[in-house]
Amino acid sequence: MGKLRTERIGVMGGTFDPIHYGHLFAAEEARCRFKLDEVVFVPTGNPPHKEQGPNLPAESRFLMTVMATADNPNFRVSRIETDRVGISYTLDTLRELRAEYGKNTVMYFITGADAILEIMTWKEPEQILEECCIIAATRLGYDLARLEKALPPAERKRRKTDPRVIVMEIPALAISSTDIRERMAARRPIRYLVPESVVQLISKKGFYR
Ligand code: NAP
Repeated sequence: MGKLRTERIGVMGGTFDPIHYGHLFAAEEARCRFKLDEVVFVPTGNPPHKEQGPNLPAESRFLMTVMATADNPNFRVSRIETDRVGISYTLDTLRELRAEYGKNTVMYFITGADAILEIMTWKEPEQILEECCIIAATRLGYDLARLEKALPPAERKRRKTDPRVIVMEIPALAISSTDIRERMAARRPIRYLVPESVVQLISKKGFYR
């Protein structure tokens, strides 16, 4: 019998309010660049770090994420944070996923650079970096100095040799959920910024009206 292969998974965390092609492209780019077996999208439930919550409830954002990822066999969507009651932390999510996938699984947490900045200055960044590498997806022209400054001491030490926080510039992230919501409020088009199945779902359910 052959040796069991270590699985490599991407964990794509986000509010996805709504999910758009920038997110999908970032996940696919990370999958190819870091040779990931699959990318698990984890839409947030009740984010702890926001005074103002998401525009849509967790269940609706989960549904949009399922629709958007359905045609990619290497993508799946987890309900971990959708179903979690109360405050939700990335560290808890990573530990739950490790329990599900097995302790030898190599994990890459992928999200926007501003969210990483927040995580690095908020809760247990060292423990998070013990669980996974972090991929900070940035828009073009993003100022990296703030992120570098926020990194914990252990990461700064290994920065040149073995970094666990990796920046990935994604031009498609010129698309943003905020812009999409503003477009909908102004009755401007969102088609081709968001997968067609999500456009249809938004229209059918009357989301963001
Ligand atoms: P956010 O503040 O809504 O987003 C920050 C920026 O990152 C926005 O420009 C956003 O663009 C972009 N972004 C968000 N998710 C992305 C993704 N997966 N790929 C590429 N860009 C992304 O951040 P958030 O969505 O609430 O949080 C992101 C993740 O970080 C979630 O998994 C959240 O649970 C986690 N987080 C955890 C803690 C903690 O545990 N203490 C603290 C902060 C964040 P769009 O608006 O276009 O998406």
